[in-house]
Amino acid sequence: MTSGLAARGSMTIQPAPPIPLYFIHNTYQAAHHGHFLIHLNYMNEDIKNKPGSYWKEKLTPEEYQVLREQGTEAAFTGKYWDNHETGMYACAACGQELFSSKTKFDSGSGWPSFDDPINAEHIELIEDTSHGMRRTEVKCKNCGSHLGHMFDDGPTRSTGKRYCINSCSLNFQEKDQA
Ligand SMILES: [Zn+2]
Repeated sequence: MTSGLAARGSMTIQPAPPIPLYFIHNTYQAAHHGHFLIHLNYMNEDIKNKPGSYWKEKLTPEEYQVLREQGTEAAFTGKYWDNHETGMYACAACGQELFSSKTKFDSGSGWPSFDDPINAEHIELIEDTSHGMRRTEVKCKNCGSHLGHMFDDGPTRSTGKRYCINSCSLNFQEKDQA
């Protein structure tokens, strides 16, 4: 046994240690390695089951209220409703890419509005009957965080949908091409 291991020497491949999520989050904040981050977060299958204490530490109080408690930021107060730069909007909680600036349009609502997600598999649509309304809630499929709501009054020349998303649920990464 021992001699066999020694003989293989540097050929022995060690399994990678689990990567703590705080490291992933910080890497994202610092370097904006969007694609890299997403790959790493898919490895962390427990991200949907993290307790509230985990997210409270990770998010600002406003982000926590919106992302984890289905809150809504006041219209025209967020950082992205009037953002016209080219790039990608990712989930503010886990970094999953959600919406391209190519699909962003000016809805006049005061919230960032998109007519299509970057990938239908990156979001989850759930019927929401809270506050006496029948709406469709939009969640990040990777981490289960609340993003906003989807309505059927979007631009009819495209999907006809309006994904009305809270700015604080998103992290924008400027890119040359969306
Ligand atoms: Zn997420």
